[in-house]
Amino acid sequence: MRMKKYDIAIIGGGASGLAAAISAARAANINGSRIKTVIFEAQPRVGKKILATGNGRCNLCNEDTQITHYRGDTQFASAVFSGPECDTQEFFRSLGLLLKSDDGRLYPLGGQASGVLDALRFEVDRLGCETLTDTKITSVKESGGAYILNNSFLADAVILCSGGKASVGECNGYTLLGQLGLTVTPLFPSLVRLVASEKNFKPLKGIRADGEIRIMSGGECLARDSGELQFTDCGISGIPAMQVSSAVARNAQHGGVYAVLDLCESLSREQLADFFLQRATSAPDARCEDVMTGIMPRRLGGVLLGELNIRADARAADALISHREALADTIKGWVIPLKGTNGFADAQVTSGGADTACFSSETLESKSHRGFFCAGELLDVDGECGGYNLHWAWCSGRRAGRCAAEYIIKKERKNA
Ligand SMILES: Cc1cc2nc3c(=O)[nH]c(=O)nc-3n(C[C@H](O)[C@H](O)[C@H](O)COP(=O)(O)OP(=O)(O)OC[C@H]3O[C@@H](n4cnc5c(N)ncnc54)[C@H](O)[C@@H]3O)c2cc1C
Repeated sequence: MRMKKYDIAIIGGGASGLAAAISAARAANINGSRIKTVIFEAQPRVGKKILATGNGRCNLCNEDTQITHYRGDTQFASAVFSGPECDTQEFFRSLGLLLKSDDGRLYPLGGQASGVLDALRFEVDRLGCETLTDTKITSVKESGGAYILNNSFLADAVILCSGGKASVGECNGYTLLGQLGLTVTPLFPSLVRLVASEKNFKPLKGIRADGEIRIMSGGECLARDSGELQFTDCGISGIPAMQVSSAVARNAQHGGVYAVLDLCESLSREQLADFFLQRATSAPDARCEDVMTGIMPRRLGGVLLGELNIRADARAADALISHREALADTIKGWVIPLKGTNGFADAQVTSGGADTACFSSETLESKSHRGFFCAGELLDVDGECGGYNLHWAWCSGRRAGRCAAEYIIKKERKNA
C-alpha cells in the first residue's frame, strides 16, 4: 500500500497542536518554503476541549506568567517561555482575536471560547494545513529518518500534541512515547476536587465560604491558597482546593495528608474569642448558631459548633464563654484528613508526563529521535488555575511547530 506522505504530522488537534500547525506554516512562509503539514485528530472535530475551558469563556493566559505558577520540570518550562513564542497576547492579536483581563486572567474580548477556536481554525485553514478528523494515531515507528504512523502515513517530522489523561481519563500519547522508547514520569490528576477521609461531609454539601486552605504532611506545609472554598458531599472543591490538589494527589498515597482550613482570615484567634465573649455577654439568650451567622454561612457555623459538641440551639451565655477559645481555634485551624483527590476524569490537567530529560528545552525535539517533537499537557509541565495550562500549550506548541519547520527546511536544503 502506498503511504500518504507529509513533511510534518501533528498528532492531536487541541490547543498545542493547532498552535504548532500555525507556527510551522508561518516559519516556512518566512523562509520562502512550502511545507506539507497535517493534523491528525481522533475526535470528529478539532479543539473540543478548548470550548469547555474557563466555563465556556476560555481563560487562555494570565497577565502574571511567572514560573512560580507551574509544577513539574519548571526549569524546562522556563527555557521554553524565554523564547520568542512566549507572548500569547501578541499571538492572538496576530490571529485577529483581542483579549480582556478579568483580575489578571485573560479571556477573549468576545467572551466566548468558540471565538478562540474559530480564530485558530481559520488560520490553520488559511495557511493550507490539512486536518484529518476521526483519525486516531495508534502506532508510530521510526524508519529511515522518517516516521510511519498507523502503517498508513509517512512524515519527516512528528509533533506529538495528544494532551494528557485529564477530563478524558485515558490518553494513548503515553503509549506512542513508549513505542519509541521515551519515558513518562508518574502521572497524577491536578486541578481536581479533594476527597476527605473521615468526616461525613453530607451536611456541608453546597456550602461556599471564603478561607485559606493549607495542605500539611508530617508537619510540613506542602501547598496553600486562599479564596472561595466549596464543600461537596465528600470533600472540598473551589479554586483554592483545585490549586493545592496536585500536592494532595502526589502525596496522599503515603497517608498522613490533611487540610487545615482558616475560615475567618480577617480576624485573629484572639479577636474571634473576644467576639464570642462580647456576643455572649451582650445577647446571652441568643442561639449559638445565630451568633455564628455574624461571621460565616449558617450551615457551616452549625457544623463547626458540632465539631465541639455544642448544640446549635444552645444559649450563647451557656456555651460560648467557656468554649470561645476552642471555637476560635477550630475556625482558624479546622483539620480535615484527606484520602486523596478525585480521578483523572474529573481533573482539568495532568501532573507529570513525557520525561523532559528526553527532549531539548530549546527545540522540544527528542534527544534520541531526530524530527520527533512533543508539546502541551503531554509533557511533564502543568500550571495552576488562571490560564496557565493553555499558556503552556500555546507556547510549547508554537515552539515545537517553528522548530519542526526549521528541521524540515534544513533537511531539504541538505538533500537539495
Ligand atoms: C473542563 C476544563 C476546563 C479547563 N479550563 C482551562 C482554562 O480556563 N484555562 C487553562 O489555561 N486551562 C484550562 N484547562 C486545561 C487545558 O484545557 C489543557 O491543559 C490544554 O487544553 C492542553 O492542551 P493540549 O493541546 O496539550 O491537549 P488537548 O487540548 O487535550 O488536545 C489534545 C488533542 O489530541 C487529540 N488526541 C489525543 N490522542 C490522539 C491520537 N492518538 N490521535 C489523534 N488525536 C489524538 C485529542 O482528541 C485532543 O483533541 C481546562 C481543562 C478542562 C478539562
